[in-house]
Amino acid sequence: MLTAVVGVNWGDEGKGRMVDLLSEGYDVICRYQGGNNAGHTVVNDRGKFILNLLPSGVLRDGAVNVMGCGMVVNIEHLCGEIAALAEKGVTLTPDTLQISDKAVICLPYHVQQDIWEEERLGDQKYGSTRRGIAPVYGDKSMHKGLRMGDLLEPETLKDKLSAVLEWKNLTLKGYGPVKIDLPGTWRWLGEYGTRLRPYVADTTQTLSAYAGDGKNILFEAQLGTLRDIDYGIYPYTTSSQTLASYATTGAGIPGSKLDRVIGVMKAYSSAVGGGPFAVEMSGAEADALREAGAEYGAATGRPRRVGAFDVVASRYGAMMQGADELALTKLDVLSYMEKIPVCTAYEIDGVKTDRFPAGSDRLTRAKPVYDYLGGFKTDISKCRKPGDLPDAALGYIRYIEEAVGRPITYVSVGPERNDYLVMR
Ligand code: GDP
Repeated sequence: MLTAVVGVNWGDEGKGRMVDLLSEGYDVICRYQGGNNAGHTVVNDRGKFILNLLPSGVLRDGAVNVMGCGMVVNIEHLCGEIAALAEKGVTLTPDTLQISDKAVICLPYHVQQDIWEEERLGDQKYGSTRRGIAPVYGDKSMHKGLRMGDLLEPETLKDKLSAVLEWKNLTLKGYGPVKIDLPGTWRWLGEYGTRLRPYVADTTQTLSAYAGDGKNILFEAQLGTLRDIDYGIYPYTTSSQTLASYATTGAGIPGSKLDRVIGVMKAYSSAVGGGPFAVEMSGAEADALREAGAEYGAATGRPRRVGAFDVVASRYGAMMQGADELALTKLDVLSYMEKIPVCTAYEIDGVKTDRFPAGSDRLTRAKPVYDYLGGFKTDISKCRKPGDLPDAALGYIRYIEEAVGRPITYVSVGPERNDYLVMR
């Protein structure tokens, strides 16, 4: 069984929590794109964990965790994450963590370049997490990336680094009199690379063997459809493919077909960073929702932009993911609302539409058209089966299910592992 758990919206849908929940019964958990710009929050009986690079399956005993070739890896950050887990009693070994030899290393100069570029852009900035993600993916496409497998060949790595830095320093000149120094970067690679060498593997071999043995593999995405580099709200996207269709490629077994795609969708909207966000609330209305949902970035601590559930964006998001089913998260957060707004259409240049114009300037002119549903005004966080839910909450779930056009199989009503209901 090959299953992908992916984001339907702008990210931060609660994928980490759903992966932690669903990973029971899976032998292997893979992250297949992105880097430490992700912040997957998992709360379980061992405590609260924020995972940036590691797959959320690291908290399941016995699961094998794979970081695929579609990822970009800041090795200093990864060493920190592994050490922080060890402090909480979760020890990773080469049997429980494997990093693709083809994943690209995110170096300190990528982070620096990200910061310089955001500063250069000023008011026009993308709202990057400033973790170096766009520069490192850019270098990968320019064939200037250093890969995790290079850490196993220190002799040739130094020559590769030297050649790359010669080019990099040429390209960075426009930012001022900067020079990335070879000895410092080499020391950094040595310090963190040496620690990670035991985990570097040909994950295609491992995953193929697991798939061949009929093991269950879960693919964990970062961000959501609307931040996909191709199909999202370009240029306010991330730099990688967030779609389920990329899961097997980014993990290392591109010839395999997924059996199940679970789209994770939040009961309202949130977004981090720049770009059009038609349903954005402001003032006291936004503050109330942000506080109720604790909408502050897991990776950066930034306050998230918040708004009503967006049917137009979510229907597009679920379609592009090819979601067989949906997990609706954070329904409990809406408990305080008297009436719940839902955006059912956009009005663009005076014309009403229910199509999401991804990546087009038209999206910046979209005005939301709202429908209002009755609020449930009661704490639903202890509900564990559909019959426990008040009618208004059930009505909201059914309304969204019909509007988005895919079955909602899970509803999450709290951050902890068992705070959820199975709907069918
Ligand atoms: P991800 O990046 O998609 O994994 O999502 P994040 O971890 O950035 O954001 C989800 C946040 O909401 C985390 O703090 C979770 O602990 C929390 N969370 C997840 N599901 C629920 C839920 O159903 N209710 C509440 N109240 N919090 C939730």
